[in-house]
Formats: sequence, structure tokens, C-alpha cells
Amino acid sequence: MTTDTASRIPTLHSELAALEAAVAELEGRPMSHFRTVRAPAAELKRRAGELGAEELEQRAVLLLAGVLLREGRTGEAGQIAHQVRAWAEEHHADYLLARVHRELSIFYRAVGDFSDALTHAVQGVSGLPDDVPPVTRARHLLSLSVALDEVGSPADGEQRAREALALAATSGDHETMLLALNNMAYSAFEQDDEPKARHLVEQMREVHALSGVQVGANQLDTMARVEMMSGRYAAVEVLLAPVLDDRVAANEGDAVAECLLTLALARRLDGRYDDAQAALDTNRRVCADRELASIGARLRQEQAALYAATGRFAEAYEEHRAFYAAATAQHSAQRDARARALQAVFEANEARRASEHFREMAHRDALTGLYNRRYINERVPDLLQEAARSCRPLAVALIDLDHFKRVNDTLSHATGDTVLQQVAELLMEETAGGSAVAARMGGEEFLLIFPGLDAREAALRCERLRLRLRAHAWQPITGTLPVTTSIGVTATTPDGHGSFSALLAQADCNLYAAKRDGRDRVIADLAL
Ligand code: GH3
Ligand code: MG
Ligand code: MG
Repeated sequence: MTTDTASRIPTLHSELAALEAAVAELEGRPMSHFRTVRAPAAELKRRAGELGAEELEQRAVLLLAGVLLREGRTGEAGQIAHQVRAWAEEHHADYLLARVHRELSIFYRAVGDFSDALTHAVQGVSGLPDDVPPVTRARHLLSLSVALDEVGSPADGEQRAREALALAATSGDHETMLLALNNMAYSAFEQDDEPKARHLVEQMREVHALSGVQVGANQLDTMARVEMMSGRYAAVEVLLAPVLDDRVAANEGDAVAECLLTLALARRLDGRYDDAQAALDTNRRVCADRELASIGARLRQEQAALYAATGRFAEAYEEHRAFYAAATAQHSAQRDARARALQAVFEANEARRASEHFREMAHRDALTGLYNRRYINERVPDLLQEAARSCRPLAVALIDLDHFKRVNDTLSHATGDTVLQQVAELLMEETAGGSAVAARMGGEEFLLIFPGLDAREAALRCERLRLRLRAHAWQPITGTLPVTTSIGVTATTPDGHGSFSALLAQADCNLYAAKRDGRDRVIADLAL
């Protein structure tokens, strides 16, 4: 080793370790900081690509898809996530795959496909390797909890949220704790279980007090709704005041509008109609600024209720019609968005199928359609590992056509090609439906692999094959020239041990012996 390489290798090693640590740090960042992820993730993707660290590159790509997803660029995000999924599946990258499933769960929820969201959320939890940090498992459980709520299984959802809460607590991940508590509290509110909702809100307050994590608009909204359950409208005002004067960070786009809607509702129920109207007017401006179609429609519904409460029935009726029109338009817009997002994903799957097709092509020999040497080099190590693992032998046979030059020389190269194609077809028939593999190693030389067979069993099969090959109807192709083969057979130890290069060398040696002994015969390690 030169000094140059000697000094480069440890450097590369430590650079990869640093990259992996940087990717893991981004993966572990609080969800509310998603906007800080893009620039470093793009840089890590570039660097990992340069170093050929494919899995790290894919992890960075998934981080970028996650940012798009949280920004509302759903279709793009889904498409990228599906591509990462294909890569992770192919490379058995379990951790990455589990992360992709979680992102896909969020993607499907965003397009309103709750059953697919649940399927992916389940895989996002079940596929997670045992050694991931508790923070990661907590977040995956939380996604599963949300997905279960969404399909109407709040009890199952709560169980996962509790597990997430416990894990997040052990690792001091306050943000995830708050999200878990918030989900449970909102779900208790929806089920009209006030004592439970109130207890959960108390826990949220404790975590806030303990951690100093700022209360987000979503959490304030949950807290306010719980106060509203028992008619404590003054408490609603106090809770939501910071949202009104912009003192609260609103991470989710519609959180402020949700709060204003809660405020309008509380004020109407409290009989403070003018103040309710003021909250609705503010909210109308917020919704217009942020293009929040879904809240905009519900705002009209609340406006109709407020008109009705104050006896303005004609206006209430008009507002209700407007609400209905807005809700319908919004549904069709959602349908369109969903169709576009799913279309993008279908295209990604198409591209994946196309790339599978190209990969398959790269593994095939163009003339005969048999597997080629590249495929064999990739596949045999797996087969040998499996043989050793299961303590079963594996046999290989090298097949070489006899005096093939004569076919080329006395007939034509094209005739030679046809002979090779016919031999390939016979080999495919020989291996069809079983575990044996046939390949063209080059020229007029072929390889058969027999998992599970020892040299004697493989030699018997090759002997039958040899007779079949020479008995084939060659006459229409080669006229009076016979087509025969010599075959060298060998195998691993009975319990499946042996290297591919040693097997090939031994098979070649036996093939050479077959040629030397007069061709048209099979020679194996053991006498037949
Ligand atoms: P032996 O019994 O000793 O194997 O004799 P042989 O004539 O088969 O000898 P050898 O293995 O040296 O020759 C192989 C010939 O196969 C040489 C080459 O022209 C021919 N060949 C290799 N690839 C192709 C191909 O793709 N098509 C055709 N038609 N011929 C090929
Ligand atoms: Mg040859
Ligand atoms: Mg030959």
C-alpha cells in the first residue's frame, strides 16, 4: 500500500462517519424545525453522492422529501418517497425503509387516503430495527396513532400514543410528548370525554412548564376547546389571546385560523355576538392571506350560525349557501390535488418498473436470453451463503460445445449463433421451474448451478442433459455435423462450503479432462 492510499482510507472512513452522524442529527431534529433541514440535507446528499455512499444519499433524499411534504408539496414528496422506497427495498435497508413508510403514511393522509396511510404507518413501526433511538420509535408510533384515529380506531390510536409518550419521556423529547398528549386530548374532546381531556391538558401544561418548550397554536386550540366543553369562555379568551397578538409560533399552516374559529365559536356560545363577529373578520383576513380554503369554508358555516343567533335569518341562509358552495368547490379541489399526487406516484412506480426491466436486461445475454456472467457473479455468493447456512451442497457444471469452430467455419457464424440459441433453450428447459440456474459465461461455454445437489447427483443430471443435447434435431441446422458437449462437474462440501472461484477452477479442470478423454462426456469429481 502506498503512503497516499494509506492516509486516504482512514480519512474517507472518518468522513463517512461524520456524514452519517450529520444525517442522523437531521433525522432527529424536532418536527417543528423542518424548515432548517433543507439546506444541510441537500449538501449531505451531494457529498454522500460524491463518496458513493448510496444509503446515506437516499436518507438525505428522504429528508428533502419530508420537507416538501410538510410544506404542502405533496405530489413531489410522494414521488420521491416512492423512489426511495424502491431503493430501500432492493437494498434491504431496513431503517431507511421504515422511515420511508412513515413518510408515506403522512403522504397518504395528506391526500385523504386513510387506509393506505394506516398500512404504511404499521410498516413504519413494525419494520423499525431494534436499535433505533427511542425518539425515532416514539415518532413512528405517533404517526401510527394518528393513522388509527383517522380510520376510526381511537382506542388503538390512544394505545400507540401512550407508548409514544412513554418513549419520548424516557429520552426527554418534549416536543413528541406534547404532540402525543395533544393528540390524546383532542381525541378525548371529540369523544366528549371532558374529565379525560382536562387531565391530558394538565399533563401538557406540566410538560410545557418543565421543558420551556413554547406552547404551539395547535396545543392552545386543544386546551381552549377543552375549556369550552364546560362553558369556561373566559378561560378560552385567556388561552387564545397570545394567538391574536401574534405571540405564538404557528408551525402548522392553519393553526392560527383554527384558534380564531374556536374563539368565534366560544364568543357566540357566550352570547358576545359582536366580539364573535370581530374574531370571524380577523379570521377571514388570515384565511385570505394564507389561502386556507378548508378553514375558509368552515368560517362561512360559523358566520351563518352567528347570523342565525342574532335573528338575521336571510343572511344566515345566504351564508349557508356560500358555505355549501365553498365546501363543494373545496372537495373537488381536494379531489384534483389527490388525483395529481397519486398520478405522480403512479409515474414513479412506472419508472421503477422500467428500471427493473433495464436491470433485468443487464443481467441477460443478448444472443441467447440466458443469464450472463455479471448476473452469476452477483448471484452465486448469495447461493453459496444459503448453502452454508442450510448445510446443503451446491453443484456447478461447466458446459462447452465440442468442435464448435467447425460449425462456424464449415457452415457460417449465423448458423453457429442459431446452435447457441438452441442449446440455450434446452438449458432453460432443463432449469425451468426448479432452483437450478443456467447462464452463458461467454462464447460457447455455459454454466449450470444446482443448489442442493452434490457432485454425483449433478453429474447424473448433466449426463441426461448431454444425451438430450446430442439427440436434439440438429440436422435442419447443421446438416451432417453433430453437436455434442463436454461437461465438467464439481460441488461444494456436503455441508455447503466452498468458494466460487475454487468451484469454477475445479469444474474447468474436469471439463478439460472430458475434452482430453475424447469429448461428448461428463466428468465429475467422483467416478460415476
Ligand atoms: P473444443 O471442443 O476444444 O471446445 O473446440 P472448439 O472448436 O469449441 O474450440 P474453442 O472453444 O476454442 O472455440 C470456440 C469458438 O466459438 C471460437 C469462436 O469463434 C466461437 N464463438 C464464440 N462466441 C461465438 C458466438 O457468439 N457466435 C458464434 N457463432 N461463434 C462463437
Ligand atoms: Mg470454449
Ligand atoms: Mg468448445
